[in-house]
Amino acid sequence: MHYTASPGASAKNISTYFASLAQQVGKGRYASAHYSVDRTSIYNSLPDDELAYHCGSETYTKEALAHLGTYPNNSTVGIEMCIEKDGSIHEDTFNNTVDLTAYLIQERGFPNVFFTHKEVVGWKECPLPWIKAPEEYERFKRAVDSKLNPLEEKVVTEDEDNMNKVLDYAQWTWNELDQYIGDAYNDNIIDEWAWVEKVRKKKLTYGELLMLKVLIDERRRKKAK
Ligand SMILES: [Zn+2]
Repeated sequence: MHYTASPGASAKNISTYFASLAQQVGKGRYASAHYSVDRTSIYNSLPDDELAYHCGSETYTKEALAHLGTYPNNSTVGIEMCIEKDGSIHEDTFNNTVDLTAYLIQERGFPNVFFTHKEVVGWKECPLPWIKAPEEYERFKRAVDSKLNPLEEKVVTEDEDNMNKVLDYAQWTWNELDQYIGDAYNDNIIDEWAWVEKVRKKKLTYGELLMLKVLIDERRRKKAK
């Protein structure tokens, strides 16, 4: 993960620049990245499996050597995030980068592993906005995770939370519930007094009520046959 370090430059500007470097004859400057992202566009400068010169260095961090091998340029996809005139990464650029990386992981089979330029080489302050505010980098990784597992993140936990919540019924509803569970107990549909007690103490949860209703209705139906 990189930033362009060129305030106001668009993804198109950056990819055009990389393309111009490719036209150099002889000993030129080697620099490129696979993708450049801004508020409105994502530019792809070379195939994912072609080496880009985006994180070369004389030395690498231990972490990079352990996970990316001795020549990280050869094992990584380089992504440049464009910055605004004030040097910040726009929220739309942030979101486009989330979309791009989630796509690379989901559709192209890359692992869900991120390295900033700094995490690879140790000395380069790139991407600077994330070096200054590491929580933004963390927010980015979380956003990619929830993009990859939308259900896991939202619906399931919400449901589970509700299931474990004690019913916040009005008194008359508790009375009706008391009647319903009490009847089931008296009719030998359920044989644990603890459920009746739980209702009287107003300690029953949504999940328990759901389970009891299914159980009671099912047993009453069987008894009626
Ligand atoms: Zn960089």
